[in-house]
Order: sequence, then structure tokens, then C-alpha cells
Amino acid sequence: MEREIIVVGAGPSGATVAMALAQMGHDVLLLDRQSFPRDKTCGDAVPSGAIQVLNSLGMAGKIHEANFYPVTKLLLSSPRGYILEADLKPGFNGANSYIVPRLCFDALLKEHAVASGAEFCQAQVKEPIVEDDRVTGVRARMNGLVQEISARLVIGADGVTSVIARALRPDKHQDVHRAVALRAYVDDIEEIPYEVEFYLYKEILPGYAWIFPLGEGQANVGLGMRLDKFRQSGQSLEELLALFLEMPLIKKRLKHGGRLHDIATWQLNFGSQKQLQLAYDGALLIGDAASLINPLTGGGIHNGVISAHLAAEVAHEALAKGDTSLDQLKSYQQRCEEIMSQGMQRSYLLQRSLIYFPWLTDILVGWGKANGHLAQTFIDKL
Ligand SMILES: Cc1cc2nc3c(=O)[nH]c(=O)nc-3n(C[C@H](O)[C@H](O)[C@H](O)COP(=O)(O)OP(=O)(O)OC[C@H]3O[C@@H](n4cnc5c(N)ncnc54)[C@H](O)[C@@H]3O)c2cc1C
Repeated sequence: MEREIIVVGAGPSGATVAMALAQMGHDVLLLDRQSFPRDKTCGDAVPSGAIQVLNSLGMAGKIHEANFYPVTKLLLSSPRGYILEADLKPGFNGANSYIVPRLCFDALLKEHAVASGAEFCQAQVKEPIVEDDRVTGVRARMNGLVQEISARLVIGADGVTSVIARALRPDKHQDVHRAVALRAYVDDIEEIPYEVEFYLYKEILPGYAWIFPLGEGQANVGLGMRLDKFRQSGQSLEELLALFLEMPLIKKRLKHGGRLHDIATWQLNFGSQKQLQLAYDGALLIGDAASLINPLTGGGIHNGVISAHLAAEVAHEALAKGDTSLDQLKSYQQRCEEIMSQGMQRSYLLQRSLIYFPWLTDILVGWGKANGHLAQTFIDKL
């Protein structure tokens, strides 16, 4: 088999790049090891910045019809229990932020990629095919057989355990640039309608616990911690979540003691690690496969979708010139750096400061109360 573009992974990043390139008239084969709908361990908070990009790719009507649960307010609780509550403004062109289970969100995006002209196929990609330092396709298990599919361009969008990144970028991510997180759904909580809640406290800083409402007593709850801090804590994420739900302010909102289901953990690789290579001869990495998670908020959907959009632009130019060499594709790396690097490093600086100066959170929350920008920045960066 020979294709123009293979996208490995049909999460938000892969589906977005596939829909963008298919809409530009390219031949796109979108591969995922799972069939959709499928769950992805996540807080399910989709920021307005990602929605703007999807709207620009023709998804506004589908998103409107899907009736996702909108987010209009944010609560930040500091270690001393200071509370910042703020109204959130809609993003550009009135795009909202939403809480939407990834089971639904990812299926909608994948469906739009297919409607845009991409071909979807369930396949477990084993590795990229590399000839003379150039990626020329992938080896994938499809219908029980390992097959080779060649392509002019391979886009790795296969998440944090990416086989494409592992083959091309053997350097390990350091623990200070990684996190682990646990998410569960609860169906007996008195939620604060349309309000996302972030709890920052000493035991888990610079991580946080969250309650993201889904309506009718349901919410996505969880917590995330930097990997080195988690290892030092000596507790499991399940134990830490139980302690969070035992906090008097939270416990009294759990009508039947907190009925949790679909508890799952997963890892996050932050984009704050320096010198992450994103472009290769014949290949690009996007989203979590490229390690583009914000080190302060743990959000990755926004950067995933932005990187997908940039990758599509660069891939389109490269394919039009008939040149998918690293020389041609490296402008993707430059564009990502221009748009994301500064914010990523600023977030990392703040994240590190919270370890040594936890009281900074109290000050920031107090300051945020006065000027109202902090909450907006936090949700915009998610
Ligand atoms: C607990 C937790 C909470 C989070 N909360 C939020 C949040 O609220 N908001 C936010 O913005 N971000 C959040 N994140 C981060 C967010 O989940 C990711 O950044 C986002 O999913 C990245 O999207 P992606 O498309 O790059 O990768 P993924 O969503 O991981 O998609 C990768 C796809 O590739 C497929 N795949 C993997 N390997 C292969 C293979 N070998 N062959 C074929 N297919 C393969 C997978 O099946 C999957 O469909 C959270 C992360 C965690 C762990």
C-alpha cells in the first residue's frame, strides 16, 4: 500500500490534522489501534482555544448540536483555603470552553475527519519504517497481519506512549517534566453548575485536584502530580484522591459518600523539556506524541489542536513542493516554538516556584481576586 499521508492516532491532535489535510484535498490514512467511541483518561476540559480551531475546520454546527456542557466560571482554591471565583469570557468568535467526556468528543472529531475525506482504519502501528534516516511509512497490525504501508509523510499523533516518537526521539523525558494523573467520574456530587474547580494544596503541589461538572450530579474528578513529587509522596493516586474527597468542604457535597466509577490513571509529558525535536525527514510529531502538555495546568488538548493546525499548514506546503525532507519540514518546529515555547517556559517557571514557595498560590489567588486575569489565563492555557 502506498499513501500520501499517514496519521498515526485519531485523538484530538490526529483527527484535527487529518481533517485539515483532507479538506485541503490530500489523501489521508488515519490509523488508530482502537475503534471509536473509546475512552481516553482525561479531565475532559476542552478550552475555547481548541474549539476555535475546530470551528474553523467546519465543526461549529456539530459542536452546537452535540450540546456539550459549557464552562462559564472558574474556582481556584489556594493551600490556605483562599478562594478565587471568576466568570470566564468566551473566546474568539464566542467559542465556549466545555466539559465533555472524551468518549464523545474524540468520536465526534474522528467522524468529522472521515466526513472531510480522511480514511479511517483500525490498526496497531508497531513502528515507523526508516530507510537511510528517512521515515518512509509504518509497520502496522491490521486484520491480524503486520503490513507495511508507505507514505510521503507520516504524522505521529499517537499520544504519550507514541511508537513514532520512541523510534525517532530515543531521549527519555525527565521526571521533572512528567506527571501522573488519576481521573474518575462521580455521580452523586452537588456540582456547582458550569464551574470548573481547581484545588491547589501542599501535599500535591505543584499539581492540583479538580472537580469538572457534567450536570445532574455528575462530574469528572481527579488529581495530577509531577512524577518526582509523586514518587516522594509514598502514596498511591487512589489514596490521594480519597484524601481529597474526605476534605470537609468536598465530603459534604457527596450525597452518598462519593460513588466513583471508571477510575483510571495515565501519564503526561510536559513541553517544558528543552530541545524536543518535532520534525524529521518524512515525519512530524504533534500533540502528546510531541510532548506538548502545559507544565502548569496539565492541559494538552489546546496545544495538540494548535500543533495539528500548524503541522497541516507545513505539510501542505511541503507536499505541494514535492519535498518532505527535514529541511522543508523544520518550519513546523519553528512555528510551534514561536507560538508555544514562551508560554510553556513561563508556566514551567511558575510550576517550579509553587514547589519552593507554596504560599505564592495564596498570594496569586488574592491578587487574582483583585484583577480577575488569573482565572482567565489559567483556563485559556489549559
Ligand atoms: C488524567 C488526565 C487528565 C487530563 N485532563 C485534561 C484536561 O482536562 N484538558 C486538557 O486539555 N488536557 C487534559 N489532559 C491531557 C490530554 O488528555 C492530552 O493532552 C490529549 O489527549 C492529547 O491528545 P492527542 O490526540 O495528542 O493524544 P491522545 O488523546 O492520547 O490520542 C492518541 C491516540 O493514538 C492512539 N494510539 C496510541 N498508540 C497507537 C499505536 N501504536 N497505533 C495506533 N494508534 C495508537 C490511541 O488509541 C489514541 O486514540 C489530561 C491528561 C490526563 C492523563
